[in-house]
Amino acid sequence: MKRTLKVYVSAPRGFCAGVDRAIDVVEKCLELFPPPIYVRHEIVHNRFVVERLRRKGVVFVENLDDVPDGAVLIFSAHGVSRAVREEAKSRPLRLIDATCPLVTKVHLEVHRLAKEGYDIILIGHAGHVEVEGTMGQLPPGGITLVQKPADVERLEVAHPEKIAYVTQTTLSIDETSEVVAALKKRFPAITGPHKNDICYATQNRQNAVKALLGKIDLLLVIGSQNSSNSNRLVEVARAAGVSAYLFDHPDEMKAEWFENVESVGLTAGASAPEDIVEATKAELAERFDARFEEFRYTEESIEFNLPKELAHISSPES
Ligand code: SF4
Repeated sequence: MKRTLKVYVSAPRGFCAGVDRAIDVVEKCLELFPPPIYVRHEIVHNRFVVERLRRKGVVFVENLDDVPDGAVLIFSAHGVSRAVREEAKSRPLRLIDATCPLVTKVHLEVHRLAKEGYDIILIGHAGHVEVEGTMGQLPPGGITLVQKPADVERLEVAHPEKIAYVTQTTLSIDETSEVVAALKKRFPAITGPHKNDICYATQNRQNAVKALLGKIDLLLVIGSQNSSNSNRLVEVARAAGVSAYLFDHPDEMKAEWFENVESVGLTAGASAPEDIVEATKAELAERFDARFEEFRYTEESIEFNLPKELAHISSPES
């Protein structure tokens, strides 16, 4: 007889408006232009999304040297540095920008702050492509990256009386608050966004998980290893002492994760497709007498328009 397992399916979960839009952009380009279509970096950080698009004729590149002249080139949802944008513009390419509007908002803020003479701090994770894009809005040295409260102690700032911070969009709400508190303590004059730049989708998925934690022994997070917001969901659970695992596909779920577990939370990062959530539910139902219940924290209704480069094109090119 199968063991009973209560499964709270967290909501909101999965695709956010920025990911939906970025995938729509690529799909639209596949309708309009003959393949291959080039995308700088993975369009969103999800293995299945990337593989599905690759099969349809999308080529993902890190380096613009790998894009031939005359090609269609899409910038991923994470955004690009000025240098990448300028290099792409200097080439005979058809450029389409799928940068999430919420990332673009941070870029615009960086330019405004620089123009007004602020020393700028970015709270984010070194090496993440969004951070590279935001840091790269200004010449080298124009933005200082801070990852954790301890980094704040080591900061050297030319104008502590005129300093501002921005943040990566997919951080942990709690850890970011700690870094902001450390910045405010050391630089009382610091200014920043109203709360932070962590996007609505990251916040809603984290808040839903937090609200669930009292009910569950284990959190299952669907997402790829390079997905920042998915990793943060795992961390939110672990910080509260609840076991949590991140996986791309239900095949990866290990039997030992479920030892002594009666109640599970199931969520998905902002770039994880809903069909993988359904496949995970099916796998849980196969292994257990699974009792599913939706746990909704809030509704989401945000949608973004397609980029202007696509707005005027309606029929396939010959
Ligand atoms: S996670 Fe947030 S910032 Fe990133 S694509 Fe989605 S809405 Fe945009």
